[in-house]
Amino acid sequence: MKLILLGPPGAGKGTQAKMLAEYYQIPQISTGDILRTAVKDGTPMGVKAKGHMDAGSLVPDDVVVGIVRERLQQADCAKGFILDGFPRTVPQADALQNALADLGKNLDAVISLEVDLEALVERLTGRRTCRDCGKGFHVRFDPPAVAGKCDACGGELVQRDDDREETIRKRLDVYRAQTEPLAAYYGDAGILHSVDGMQDIQVVKANILETLTAK
Ligand code: ADP
Ligand code: ADP
Ligand code: ZN
Repeated sequence: MKLILLGPPGAGKGTQAKMLAEYYQIPQISTGDILRTAVKDGTPMGVKAKGHMDAGSLVPDDVVVGIVRERLQQADCAKGFILDGFPRTVPQADALQNALADLGKNLDAVISLEVDLEALVERLTGRRTCRDCGKGFHVRFDPPAVAGKCDACGGELVQRDDDREETIRKRLDVYRAQTEPLAAYYGDAGILHSVDGMQDIQVVKANILETLTAK
């Protein structure tokens, strides 16, 4: 399965990508996670990306395209992959087509998660992530058994620096201007499938799997 999860910040891409990766036994490729690791490790790429990420704007296309190109060549992507948070611009989508063509691969589907704008802000302000294993939670919608502690590994749950209200508004504007056109891009390609992302996490997962098996 070669899949893109498309949708605004907070739509549930990461949550669903993790579950689908386990279901299909293929890797989740999250450019956001890769960039955050680079920032934490202080690599040259991380240093370059940090200012863009803190401001809620996009990291330059050449940086993220380089990340994904390299990642797709790794052996664990042979059976498939789930792209989460990439592509985010039309030039990134074009670059992805070129990279896949070089590898002799084709996308199977693009799942677009549809979520109301007001719900996104609430999802992002309440989002918490495990510092140790990266598992995601929500203080109201997907709370851990013990407040502030990861169910999976007991690690500390932290809030992302860019999940503050001012930065969230900026990221949603960036999404509308730069990423939303990708729905038409993949609609024209005949591989776009919309899924109602306002439902319960497990219901969204079931609908995605239904969509992918029915196509
Ligand atoms: P994205 O990767 O698209 O930015 P996430 O998967 O990180 O989004 O989800 C954002 C927040 O919303 C997280 O705190 C997550 O637990 C929560 N969430 C995800 N899916 C749902 C859902 N269907 N209903 C309610 N909350 C959700
Ligand atoms: P979310 O889904 O909540 O918006 P991500 O973790 O996908 O968050 O991305 C966090 C930040 O990382 C983005 O605001 C942006 O600065 C950067 N980023 C991630 N993926 C890309 C991408 N494909 N192109 C450009 N910037 C990216
Ligand atoms: Zn954990």
